[in-house]
Amino acid sequence: MKGMIFNIQRFCLHDGPGIRTTVFFKGCSLNCAWCHNPESHKSCPELLYSPANCIRCGACAQVCPEKLHSRSGSGHSFDRALCRACGACAAVCPTGALELSGKEADADEVFAQVLRDAEFYRAGSGGLTLSGGEPMAQPAFALELARKAREAGIHVCVETCGYCDRGDLKKMLPYTDLFLYDFKLADSEAHKRWTGADNAMILDNLAFLNESGAGIVLRCPIIPGVNFTDGHFDSIERVSQLYPAVRQIDLEPYHPLGIQKSMRLGRAAGFELDGFLERDRLEVYARRLGSRVPIQVNII
Ligand code: SF4
Ligand code: SF4
Repeated sequence: MKGMIFNIQRFCLHDGPGIRTTVFFKGCSLNCAWCHNPESHKSCPELLYSPANCIRCGACAQVCPEKLHSRSGSGHSFDRALCRACGACAAVCPTGALELSGKEADADEVFAQVLRDAEFYRAGSGGLTLSGGEPMAQPAFALELARKAREAGIHVCVETCGYCDRGDLKKMLPYTDLFLYDFKLADSEAHKRWTGADNAMILDNLAFLNESGAGIVLRCPIIPGVNFTDGHFDSIERVSQLYPAVRQIDLEPYHPLGIQKSMRLGRAAGFELDGFLERDRLEVYARRLGSRVPIQVNII
């Protein structure tokens, strides 16, 4: 069983309870303007290039089978349009100016890496988190990893935008301890404008998970100019009270790291705000929300 991933990160502290290993799936069913992992959008490998780190050594030009790199005077140019993401140039780049994001990975190999930290999971109630991108966009691979983990007694979190097939979600239920479920915008038109899809399927799937007795943490990206409003916090409150399976609310303040990554991918950034949402501004809202709901509200 193989899947496309772009990272495996150990010792994660914000991807569910305890110390966790997070497997980042490549490919996403939404296209959120503020995404901080734009390299996760496409389901194929992609090359990132940081001109500031290039020392113009010419190593990439020597290995590229398509002859896409060239040294022009004191500079280095690169024709991205014809790149087939073979990764040869990134493998020889001495400074990391070129980096390949995405590789096909075998479920057994991925799980072997997850098992390396099994002692930490047992000691600190951590486990495996499937994230992305969108893990439910590769449902068979997600199911295989979750099944392996549960059979090994490892806690499983699935971080999802909820824009996925109901049948696939149903299959994941027996192997998932906690869904880290995104709630971005209550208004369907605004959801479509900012993420590329309306929220009907997402809200239906949330209701389904609630009825199925799943564990749910509501994950709420808070984006200035999009949903950093009193009305949106009212919506978070309503949703969490409507669905008793929601046991915690995590607020995720906007940060602009996706802008640089979009540039490294040769794409226009979907969101121009280059400042962080300050924690103390969000704390005011978090405290007020926390006083209205019977569950924990965190800023992560
Ligand atoms: S990834 Fe492969 S095809 Fe693309 S520029 Fe590098 S060596 Fe050339
Ligand atoms: S191999 Fe890396 S550092 Fe050398 S010219 Fe190519 S991009 Fe620049």
